[in-house]
Amino acid sequence: MARAGSPPAQRLTRALRAARVFFALWPGDGVRDALHCEAQMLHRKCGGRVMRRENVHLTLVFVGDVAVGRLDELKSMAGTISGTPFELVLDQLGYWRHNRIVSASPLTVPSALRELVSSLEGRLKQTGFEFDQRPYAPHITLLRDARAPGVPAPLHLDWPVGDFVLVESAQGPRGAEYRVLARWKLGG
Ligand code: ATP
Ligand code: MG
Repeated sequence: MARAGSPPAQRLTRALRAARVFFALWPGDGVRDALHCEAQMLHRKCGGRVMRRENVHLTLVFVGDVAVGRLDELKSMAGTISGTPFELVLDQLGYWRHNRIVSASPLTVPSALRELVSSLEGRLKQTGFEFDQRPYAPHITLLRDARAPGVPAPLHLDWPVGDFVLVESAQGPRGAEYRVLARWKLGG
């Protein structure tokens, strides 16, 4: 007997719903803790809002709204990228006046990171996904609405990067909440 409600209609509604997504590097517990600790120390000096520990990430490509029905296509596309594992040395604290963000970044951007970003952008173009195309400035946001740090504090954190992820960003009661949708190994 047919059940109340219409599964095909539900499937259509789900397919049309948009998800706000981005590709990112997602730190493991050790690097995540170290970055969060750094953010808490900086908070004492610069005020603002500390990035929540579970949200700490480095954006590779911001795709934005994608129909949920196209997420599988996006995942298959990302699955074709092989990339190379690399060491990311975070040795710079930065401050952007225009958005009052304090961030950690690498002084030297590894070529494997640049290549990963260009591969993703190239495949996104080929498959007809739109994405943010501003020049790539890899950074990990630590504080928002903050004052400038003044005298730069030293930073040196080694992050061995072996994979990348697709993340969904949704608005929760405490601001943006991120959920990892899929993960791909580099060089795998
Ligand atoms: P909120 O916007 O609620 O303050 P958020 O910025 O953390 O939270 P999103 O706007 O969903 O959450 O962004 C997710 C990630 O993508 C963040 O690292 C953000 O800096 C980056 N991002 C957002 N918009 C763009 C964009 N247009 N271009 C490049 N990166 C972006
Ligand atoms: Mg934002």
